[in-house]
Amino acid sequence: MASPTDGKSNSSFILNKPHDVTYQDRPVPSIEQSPHEVLVAVNYTGICGSDVHYWEHGAIGDFIVKDPMVLGHESAGTVVGVGSAVDDLKLGDRVALEPGYPCRRCTRCLEGHYNLCPLMQFAATPPYDGTLTGFWKAPSDFCYKLPDHVSLQEGALIEPLAVAVHIVGKQARVKPGQTVVVMGAGPVGLLCCAVAKAYGASKIVSVDIVESKLRFAREFAATHTYISQRVSPQENAANILKEAGLESAGGADVVIDASGAEPSIQASLHVVRVGGTYVQGGMGKPDITFPIVALCVKEVTVRGSFRYGSGDYRLAIELVSSGKVAVKKLISETVPFTSAEAAFQKVKTGEVIKILIAGPNEKDV
Ligand SMILES: [Zn+2]
Ligand SMILES: [Zn+2]
Repeated sequence: MASPTDGKSNSSFILNKPHDVTYQDRPVPSIEQSPHEVLVAVNYTGICGSDVHYWEHGAIGDFIVKDPMVLGHESAGTVVGVGSAVDDLKLGDRVALEPGYPCRRCTRCLEGHYNLCPLMQFAATPPYDGTLTGFWKAPSDFCYKLPDHVSLQEGALIEPLAVAVHIVGKQARVKPGQTVVVMGAGPVGLLCCAVAKAYGASKIVSVDIVESKLRFAREFAATHTYISQRVSPQENAANILKEAGLESAGGADVVIDASGAEPSIQASLHVVRVGGTYVQGGMGKPDITFPIVALCVKEVTVRGSFRYGSGDYRLAIELVSSGKVAVKKLISETVPFTSAEAAFQKVKTGEVIKILIAGPNEKDV
């Protein structure tokens, strides 16, 4: 009997230890005993800073790669198998994969914050394998059907866009007319600018240390940009407010850090207005010197932001589908699955904004 996986590759891109990667043909996951799951042939995967961090260092904080692990977590693909109880997806559907699966039963899950589930199984976060593989098995409600006019390449960018939706919509709660400063013009920072624009922000200021990134930010979504100088955080903050015409307002309504860099975080607390909101989206050094007096006397609302939760993927797809966020512009290059390591190298050196790996199962959509 012909199987939907016949003739398709289940080659997987595996990290053994830092800078030691191999390809391995792994067994195709079975959904026979999984009525609510689907099997997806992976078509495109974006590479993100966290993937590169594991490749270089073998760990992020307490998450340490002890056994060989498949990398990748930003993927889109085609449904090739459906469990007996699945009624929302069918064979051939093109889907964006949400790559983290919560327990659905704990207090955090039941209160609607499943991204905070202590039992979360997240792709390419040890000990769980990632999506740079031929076939991915997932609960059907964590696979999101792409509208016909949204490509699989765009589908692979829904993951970082969902991160930005969570930061801007859920945590920063940006409202129409507000002014927003985003520290860091990497993919998530750029997507935060775009989501803020979609939410009706009146001014969106992108801040980075690399001029070429700011040039891109201006074309993409920012109304103003500022290149950080080697001066005090207070001075950089004053310059940002001047550059964006925010001096009379006394600061920005919302400041988002998507850099994780200590000087940016420090400047952020001087950029935000009295009574404003600050959201930490970027992760860098675990401990930094933080301007706590500014936080206190300005009565700043501070929130962390971690991955994405209920509704974020759907909204991300809607923003792409309606043309409000042109994720396609972020794709610098697409390389074949066999060149995966070269893609990691390019992300590391910063020569690409977003690089996609095509395959191992190709589809020209
Ligand atoms: Zn990512
Ligand atoms: Zn849970």
